[in-house]
Amino acid sequence: MLIRHEALGTLKTSLLGTYPEEGCGLLLGQADRFLVTDFMQLENTASPDRAGKHFVLDPLKVYEAEREAEKKGLDILGFYHSHPDHEAALSEEDRRYMIPGMFYMILSIVKGRCRDIRVFEKRESNGIVTEIFILEVAA
Ligand SMILES: [Zn+2]
Repeated sequence: MLIRHEALGTLKTSLLGTYPEEGCGLLLGQADRFLVTDFMQLENTASPDRAGKHFVLDPLKVYEAEREAEKKGLDILGFYHSHPDHEAALSEEDRRYMIPGMFYMILSIVKGRCRDIRVFEKRESNGIVTEIFILEVAA
């Protein structure tokens, strides 16, 4: 997966803003180039006792975001969320709700700093979850 340097910078900043709460949203860009150029932060609708353990997106909000992205000519490539004071690994619940063919970016935010970023994908062909290389690009 490719991501524009500038987009990753603002994405990190927005997640540092929600720290120590978990933040989440959509990765947008050009699906045919596996290129993320933009993102859309969405509200984490997980109940307070579940927040921090799992992210939950309102399907209606995702639908609206999808339409908004469409208007800008952007595709949804996947989802991102932060793991405050936790490593950037998939939790059991993260795994359970993965949609095949979508990228899942996890950003580990520790003590107010982004420590690690990892991306995962559940393959459409066999359902196996693999880690995806991420490359920052200038444009
Ligand atoms: Zn997670």
